[in-house]
Amino acid sequence: MDEFITENIRIIQERIDKACKANQRNPGEVKLLLATKTVPAERIEIALRTGQTLIAENKVQELKDKFEYLKAIPHVNHFIGHLQTNKIKDILKYNVSCIHSIDRVDLAEKLHQRLLKENKTMEVLIQVNTSFEESKYGAAPEKVIDLVQQIATFSTLKIKGLMTIGLLSAEAEQVRACFKLLKHIQQQIIALAIPDVSMKELSMGMSGDLEIAIAEGATIVRVGTAIFGQRPTPDSYYWNENL
Ligand SMILES: *Cc1c(COP(=O)(O)O)cnc(C)c1O
Repeated sequence: MDEFITENIRIIQERIDKACKANQRNPGEVKLLLATKTVPAERIEIALRTGQTLIAENKVQELKDKFEYLKAIPHVNHFIGHLQTNKIKDILKYNVSCIHSIDRVDLAEKLHQRLLKENKTMEVLIQVNTSFEESKYGAAPEKVIDLVQQIATFSTLKIKGLMTIGLLSAEAEQVRACFKLLKHIQQQIIALAIPDVSMKELSMGMSGDLEIAIAEGATIVRVGTAIFGQRPTPDSYYWNENL
């Protein structure tokens, strides 16, 4: 099992390097984030022992369950799941340094209020629904600029870029359109030069589509299955509020 994970990470690094080369990008520009939902802490440890440092959960409960075990191993926690406002207090207990899934003002505002109380700050990415699928979270593309402008006024939230989930199991060109749209929105926001807003990060690309995402400018790819194997629960459990 150790070798399975180690070998998979090697293969993913190779895919990232190859995609960077093919697009005249420096592999150092693309961070690998391990999507660890449903993966037991013992297996995450194996990945961290290979030198990986960046991991992310989708649910606060899983973050909590694995926290004690992983505490002693150097790593950085991001959060990539749908965040309910009633979980904000909890998420701040587990050393999350960046939340990729900020997609509405009320969530941002409540997070800001809580951070103020605790005298903390948080890096955030704005999640955009670039696939126009109803089951996906994320702000509607046409609302993102407004949203960024509003969130930029919350002093505790440090906007670092945008995140999206590309269309799943579709034509490569349809997937590419999602990533191109995210890049386009990023460029529009950069042109506005909003104070205290960085658009450095584009979190896009997963096990099946990371090459396309890198070609379109990803700076963070989020990889789960291709490293840890198939998950027992369908992703709709994580991505669809109605389930
Ligand atoms: C699970 C998940 C991933 C990783 O997906 P894989 O296809 O397993 O690589 C990436 N991003 C988000 C938001 C996820 O929930």
